[in-house]
Amino acid sequence: MSEEGLLVGRIRNGTVLDHVEPGTALVVLSALNIKGTDGNIVSVAMNVSSKKIGKKDVVKIENRVLKPEETNKLALIAPRATVNIIREYKIVEKRSVQLPESFVGIFKCPNPTCISNAREPITSEIKVLKKEPPMLQCKYCARILQPEELAEV
Ligand SMILES: [Zn+2]
Repeated sequence: MSEEGLLVGRIRNGTVLDHVEPGTALVVLSALNIKGTDGNIVSVAMNVSSKKIGKKDVVKIENRVLKPEETNKLALIAPRATVNIIREYKIVEKRSVQLPESFVGIFKCPNPTCISNAREPITSEIKVLKKEPPMLQCKYCARILQPEELAEV
């Protein structure tokens, strides 16, 4: 087993997020709404050395398979992350995180007067205008948004 593997051990079933930007693992867990309250094992290794990106964080979430809609929001926090889906100790799916064309119902528009923040039942929609660096825009009020301005719905 590699040194990296020893740090957090292998998991039987679940999701491993690898090549997460160093120091962001806790933000990643929060973005995924993983609190550890469901009793499943969540292992976090921060600032481990990586051949690919120098230093990285690794997050292992047992018994939970993260869907692309969930992991794609990590594109704003950990754009180089790789998502490994594990079944019976084997990687059955490997994908990178991708900025989608738009985030529907995931982030709130930070503009307090935006109609998507009014009482009307409007699902927020944040369009991705540009990927590198990310440039975002609210579909409703057209405000240009920085990734760090976005809050979860
Ligand atoms: Zn808006």
